[in-house]
Amino acid sequence: MSTDIIIETHNVTRRFGAFTALKNVSIQFERGKLTSIIGPNGAGKSTYFNVLSGAFPPSEGRVVFQGKDLSGLKPHQFSHAGISKSFQITNIFPNFSTRQNVEIALQAHVSRYNLWRRQSSLQLQDKAMELLRTVGMEQHARRLARELAHGQQRALEIAIALASDPKLLLMDEPTAGMSPEETRSMMDLIVQVAAARTVILVEHKMKMIMGISDRIIVLHHGEFLASGAPDDIRSNDEVKRVYLGQ
Ligand code: ADP
Ligand code: MG
Repeated sequence: MSTDIIIETHNVTRRFGAFTALKNVSIQFERGKLTSIIGPNGAGKSTYFNVLSGAFPPSEGRVVFQGKDLSGLKPHQFSHAGISKSFQITNIFPNFSTRQNVEIALQAHVSRYNLWRRQSSLQLQDKAMELLRTVGMEQHARRLARELAHGQQRALEIAIALASDPKLLLMDEPTAGMSPEETRSMMDLIVQVAAARTVILVEHKMKMIMGISDRIIVLHHGEFLASGAPDDIRSNDEVKRVYLGQ
């Protein structure tokens, strides 16, 4: 039986001027799985994330999503195809309530696809509250987004990302700057979200993602270094060397 690949890159190279941040990276990601991309600082993780989300077109190589070549398309076309990324804080409107932020994201999605012929504000409200419940934020629905704690803003970001019902959810360092407590609840939330869809996490804290990932990919100096189940990665000598050498 062949595995179901949701997104793949073929020989992706990305340069910034004379500097090569990614070199010939070819990776396939399985549908329905939680895959984490790890690697030391500067490994090229965020650059790769931006290639997957369409923000950075590859200098060479291709990005194929559900069998369709998206290389060279604009970020909004990646988003319409069903790829949603979380953790651009700019998605949040600080002076709107938590619930309004989700309603705005829902409205943008339903108007694009004309899903509801007549969208009552009550329908929007209900759906927004459902998403806020999913991310454990329903009790903060009426608070202004700017008043939320850092961890809560990031949970709201996930609700906003889910509003477009994406096929693939990308998250770059979702627990950056979080307290240990916030980190634990974000990890729980990611596991819960990943139960229903494909998630790719980008992270440099290896320990943190060991327990929750189906598969781990390691980048180093812009190149693919290793891939495998968490236990394989943990015991991989090359990976250990890279992390110890940090
Ligand atoms: P990571 O997320 O793994 O820490 P990045 O993908 O952010 O690594 O960066 C990889 C390398 O590419 C770094 O050396 C970084 O300085 C460089 N880089 C990233 N983005 C840019 C950019 N926009 N312009 C120039 N160099 C960049
Ligand atoms: Mg990064």
